[in-house]
Amino acid sequence: MKVIEIFRSLQGEGVLIGTPTVFVRLQGCNLHCEWCDTGYAREGGKDMSVEQVLKEVEAFKTQFVCLTGGEPLLQKESIRLMNKLLEKLYHVTLETNGSISLEDVPCAENMLISMDIKCPSSGMQDKMLLENIELLSPADQLKFIVADDEDLKYADNIIKKYDIKSTIVFTPVGGMNLEPVADYVLAKKINARVLPQLHKLIWGESKGV
Ligand code: SF4
Repeated sequence: MKVIEIFRSLQGEGVLIGTPTVFVRLQGCNLHCEWCDTGYAREGGKDMSVEQVLKEVEAFKTQFVCLTGGEPLLQKESIRLMNKLLEKLYHVTLETNGSISLEDVPCAENMLISMDIKCPSSGMQDKMLLENIELLSPADQLKFIVADDEDLKYADNIIKKYDIKSTIVFTPVGGMNLEPVADYVLAKKINARVLPQLHKLIWGESKGV
């Protein structure tokens, strides 16, 4: 696998926000979001076997592991890595951009799929594989990263159109301008959690956090 970085931090987004977690950031992305904050994950990285990744993860002695990117599902070995981590009883989060089928992602009690829906401000909304929504369970989360009113309306329409079983999360682009998002969710009675990007509140735009 091509690995950009492995580090321990606090989960900055979604339902596990604040949880100490080991992040495995894999190289490569098939999208080009306007506001991408991880452009450095597109290229480079270190060649590692699944076993080498497991050994590095084990050294952190943390129960929670998150595969992120880039887009982790672009690398076939990601599925094997998730299966191995689950066998070792880690809690595994997969952060995926919503454009690649989730069919092969393992199903397990200690597995959380965190799937993005890219809204119009990203320029990538046409790349979403919306059928994936039906594969999400109540243990998973569907995350809308929203920049403006158009994004909020787009997210609202998706929520109305699909039978969503997972937790819904709204997070502002940049992670911190929560008030307009909170006002919209409350005014429209949307059953979603409004969350910041905790790592940016704590450490700003630093890498490896
Ligand atoms: S999917 Fe994620 S890594 Fe890829 S371009 Fe969009 S924000 Fe960046």
